[in-house]
Amino acid sequence: MTTPFIQRPTRIQVDLDAISHNLRAIGDHVRVPVMPIVKANAYGHGLVAVARHLVAQGTGQLGVAFVEEGIALRQAGITVPILVLGGIFGPQVAQFLEHDLEITVSSLDKLRQVEAAAQAMNRKAVIHLKVDTGMERIGVHSESAAPLIEAAVASRWCMVKGVYSHLACSDDPRSAMTQLQLERFLETCAHFERIGAPMPIRHLANSGGVLHFPETWLDMVRPGIITYGVLPGDSARPPFELRPALSLVSQVVYFKVVKAGRTVSYGATWMAPHDTRIVTVPIGYGDGYSRALSSSASSSRGEVLIRGERHPIVGRVCMDQFMVDLGPQGSAWNEDEVVLIGHQGGDAIACEDVARWAETIPYEVLVGLNERIPREYRGG
Ligand SMILES: *Cc1c(COP(=O)(O)O)cnc(C)c1O
Repeated sequence: MTTPFIQRPTRIQVDLDAISHNLRAIGDHVRVPVMPIVKANAYGHGLVAVARHLVAQGTGQLGVAFVEEGIALRQAGITVPILVLGGIFGPQVAQFLEHDLEITVSSLDKLRQVEAAAQAMNRKAVIHLKVDTGMERIGVHSESAAPLIEAAVASRWCMVKGVYSHLACSDDPRSAMTQLQLERFLETCAHFERIGAPMPIRHLANSGGVLHFPETWLDMVRPGIITYGVLPGDSARPPFELRPALSLVSQVVYFKVVKAGRTVSYGATWMAPHDTRIVTVPIGYGDGYSRALSSSASSSRGEVLIRGERHPIVGRVCMDQFMVDLGPQGSAWNEDEVVLIGHQGGDAIACEDVARWAETIPYEVLVGLNERIPREYRGG
């Protein structure tokens, strides 16, 4: 007889219906094709499961950061066009072609590498030219893009499907940077007309662009974080409703009374001011739940929901567990649900709250949640 395997009590719950809602809301708002971005394990939500769901919802193209992510999608049977957004590493170029992945070409050198690999494999490469309009990350500078555009258009081994750039400040609706980047981008795109070449798909807007800058939508948008219902910044209200798709939950594994004057966790940074009830939760920084959520006597950071009430994390977050103070009268039982991100009772903790407590951004909170935490999917 074999014993049934019971998973650890810590889980990520992904609401696929929330992702469908967000995808539909984005599409209705922009009315141009949408390329959802599923890099970094679909922002922690699970690359293959999310990609399959998006494709089932009618998504016509996906974006990832690295060729490995694109290959993982192909191996999972995803057949829609996939653009790899990251800078190409020369020795990997053949892998793009082998797996039918669209390539970001950001310089003449890179174009030559792609052409050489395409010729060697006797296969035409599908490329998107990357223009740098102010990010200074990858891309040919907008003012010197003409030779790259001409060479790419003339290339026998490349099909120029897109031309794109990336916005540096679009999460801030008041920033003048976005307008400047848009002007540089459009000026670069005009070169296709000047040389009489067909205009490829022009794409510029990330989540911030979708939310705050309609003039950046152009021929396609590339939303990442809002697909998952999380805002890229906290400065402005979204123009349509977004639904957070991810919840992070665990269960109490230990309950005890800690006497006044005893300290909790590594470094003894937190001391019980009076006799108090403390529970242990089995998730830690080894799962990607940040150690920056630790608290000490002088600063309180992370909070969780237990029995519908908020309670503070006390002491340092360990690799695999942390402690929560219920107070002298608090009650909880072993196996009670603990919500770290999501709803419980009438209260909720947003990914944005966790980011603020840890002094980081919601992106880092989401993508930090690693493969040690099992993911469960609902809806879809
Ligand atoms: C990550 C990324 C996006 C998506 O960014 P969000 O802010 O999550 O919407 C879009 N385009 C490029 C090039 C990216 O690297």
